[in-house]
Amino acid sequence: MGQGWDCALFYNKTVTLASTGFFIFNTTLKSVNDYDLRILNLNMQQIENKDILVIINPNSGKKQITKIIKKINALSPNISTIVTHNIEELKNVFQLNIEKYEAFIVVGGDGTVNEAIKYLHHRSDKLLGVLPAGSGNGFARELGFKKSIKSLIRDTNNGDSINVDVLSVNGKNCINAAGLGFDSFVAHDFQKRDSRGLKSYIFSVIKSMFVFKPFNATVIVDEEIIKGIFQMITITNTRQFGNNALISPLSKPNDGIFELVLVEPFPFYIYPIFIIQLFLGLLKESKYLRYIPVKNSLTIESGCKKYHIDGEPKTFANNLSVKMLKDKVRVVKTEHCRYQ
Ligand SMILES: [Mg+2]
Repeated sequence: MGQGWDCALFYNKTVTLASTGFFIFNTTLKSVNDYDLRILNLNMQQIENKDILVIINPNSGKKQITKIIKKINALSPNISTIVTHNIEELKNVFQLNIEKYEAFIVVGGDGTVNEAIKYLHHRSDKLLGVLPAGSGNGFARELGFKKSIKSLIRDTNNGDSINVDVLSVNGKNCINAAGLGFDSFVAHDFQKRDSRGLKSYIFSVIKSMFVFKPFNATVIVDEEIIKGIFQMITITNTRQFGNNALISPLSKPNDGIFELVLVEPFPFYIYPIFIIQLFLGLLKESKYLRYIPVKNSLTIESGCKKYHIDGEPKTFANNLSVKMLKDKVRVVKTEHCRYQ
């Protein structure tokens, strides 16, 4: 599952680190003419190190941050770096620097990427890169981002990019998957736990297997109205939740289509088979699943009000409305990217 900002952690960090303020190195302003010319040749253009800003989520850990900054400085002292301590600071960083840099590399998990996309999905002249540092790293895995800063900077310098779809789920951005039912039950349980590690996550999954009950829902998609009892209703932009849990093995993040995955209730003994199929990318073959490609939008009505976006637990009041955003986010095309 994706993992976002850990509120408790970053509030502590804000208290202790607020006095240190922001540290931005090598800020370079561009002229308007220079800017216009760049837009014309976006997909051809190489990115210089002075036009890259690396934004680090402190959840990576203090030691890790020092290590990352050291590595970046060793590669090139011209690359700017900044540590943000909470969502407000991240917003300020984008607002103050969006015109100053061409490429923004975020260091964090899906939650960090999700936040960054708020400021980049309508900016086709900007480039997003990811150094994965979360627990699930679904988006980074899908787009071929590895943990090597060196190869990430090299790929960013190359300037090759891929336009990735973004979904809107009740007005909030979604990059990997959203949904209600079993997966959101797990996300809500996981949030209550002290530790956000894999062990805690597995414990949440096992507990949910015993406690969770299927739910009624109505899905309105195009002309079709689907009523039923479900184990899970998932909306996918990419193939996975994170950690290579491939809920929708045929999804592509750049085809302008998202997938509706309807999971019927299944007997308890199917759980281990479901989990094995999930990680092997074989869920397409399960008789309990139905996949519906959606071009524009859909609405879900249900008494089950808990859902998740990229693994982050949420609740809704009335309906769940999902739309394909016409704006896309321009992402660094890594050498490991599986999409054209
Ligand atoms: Mg797609």
